[in-house]
Amino acid sequence: MSIGIRGKWVIGYDGEEHRLIRDGVVVTEGKRIKYVGKDSSVEADRWIDGSHHVVIPGLICTHAHASSAPKDKSFIDDTGARHFYMSSLGENLSALGKSISPEDFHVFSRYSIAELLRSGCTTMLEIGMVGNLGAEEAVRTIGEMGIRALEGPSISDGVWERTQGANIQTRWLELEEGLKKLDEAEKFVTKYEGALDGRLIPALYPDKVDTNSGELQRAVRGKADELNVPVSIHAAQWVVEFQNMLRMYRRTPVEFLHETGLLGPDLVIGHGWATAGHPLLAYPPVGGGDLELLAMSGATVSHDPLVFIKRGNKMHSHSRYLAAGVNVSIGCDTSPQDMLNEMRMASYVSKLADWDCFSGSSREVFNSATLGGARGIGKPDLGRLESGALADIAVVDMQTINNVPCRDPVKNLVNSASRGDVTHVIVNGELVVEAGVLLAVDEGKLVEEVQRTTEAVWSRIPENHYLGLTSDEVSPQSFRPWDP
Ligand SMILES: [Zn+2]
Repeated sequence: MSIGIRGKWVIGYDGEEHRLIRDGVVVTEGKRIKYVGKDSSVEADRWIDGSHHVVIPGLICTHAHASSAPKDKSFIDDTGARHFYMSSLGENLSALGKSISPEDFHVFSRYSIAELLRSGCTTMLEIGMVGNLGAEEAVRTIGEMGIRALEGPSISDGVWERTQGANIQTRWLELEEGLKKLDEAEKFVTKYEGALDGRLIPALYPDKVDTNSGELQRAVRGKADELNVPVSIHAAQWVVEFQNMLRMYRRTPVEFLHETGLLGPDLVIGHGWATAGHPLLAYPPVGGGDLELLAMSGATVSHDPLVFIKRGNKMHSHSRYLAAGVNVSIGCDTSPQDMLNEMRMASYVSKLADWDCFSGSSREVFNSATLGGARGIGKPDLGRLESGALADIAVVDMQTINNVPCRDPVKNLVNSASRGDVTHVIVNGELVVEAGVLLAVDEGKLVEEVQRTTEAVWSRIPENHYLGLTSDEVSPQSFRPWDP
């Protein structure tokens, strides 16, 4: 099966960088791209007319929690914990997480993938589905929905524990427990390598820098080298973690990753903003500091701006990381899981962080959401439209209420486009969104299911909140109820 797309604009890749092709043509053959250029006489089984559209490489989301993120919507907004420097980790997120029942994970997973696909995202680095759904069901769901996904079970030999009052510290378990999980992760890799016609990319997920001991991190590094798979970890993600790492090891999270050897070109760090020199940390960098370590290692930061913006925080800054030589990619983490929105946020917070209109340019952000993500997950045949690359493509209408007038489609993608403008999405050469409609699920039924499911989750919060608070106490309604 081959699909041809004629686009008013095509973002092609010239071997070194993205380029803008006016009146371009992209043709797929099987799961790969066979042609990118201007020749519309190239043969294809079917054609998609993009006469006022831009054709782009499918966006790569390098941090998603598909089975749980939808619970955040309508809830975490305007909340956080001042005693945790505004983070919701350890507060309402813990209570929300514990309130999800096993069946809810299925509904949330399908919904999250639907959200991502509709935003032009074709690959997600997803953490949680394997643990919450079981490996087989997670893989089945990804297969059915049609997205490309990095997956694996989580690995840790420590847990967060509330010690005194709200305080959260790591309680260490036996190293053996972590090694057992690493064994399970290896079995997952062996079993699913190449599954779903290559759409499933097994990865190693040491959960968090402060719940993986130095010994376990070294063991994960050894296994990653042996298996040659991508690795992802939560690190430098909140002030409490940064401070706990300093007190446990006299090292920043990034310094510790460097010391254990886990920091390397195959590592994607979610979220990587809590680095020496960040104003919220008041911890000055020594020498080149964390950014230099990140840059020298070739590791990738998954910049997930929205979830931090909601807490009044931001990475300092997208452009400064790039200038330091750090590979930056984009992820969603929270809900809405919308890569177009995350790109916009990434651009604006970088400008705000630097007080600079040139910071967080559309070019930089688009590169991060495509080439940066591809480099992070070790897939040089993704994130670009070039002959031989995998056929992961999105088509976005530029003649809509959002996008007219259009002179520069990349600027419009970052600054004005929304999910409703995404008309076609192709993954591995297969259409998964056609004329704005998801092909794998009935979107209407799915949204009803999500509403029902999440109402039940909110009702269970008091049983799971450490202070017994209700959902309205944790996250008050914007306006008080009125029954006139
Ligand atoms: Zn996360």
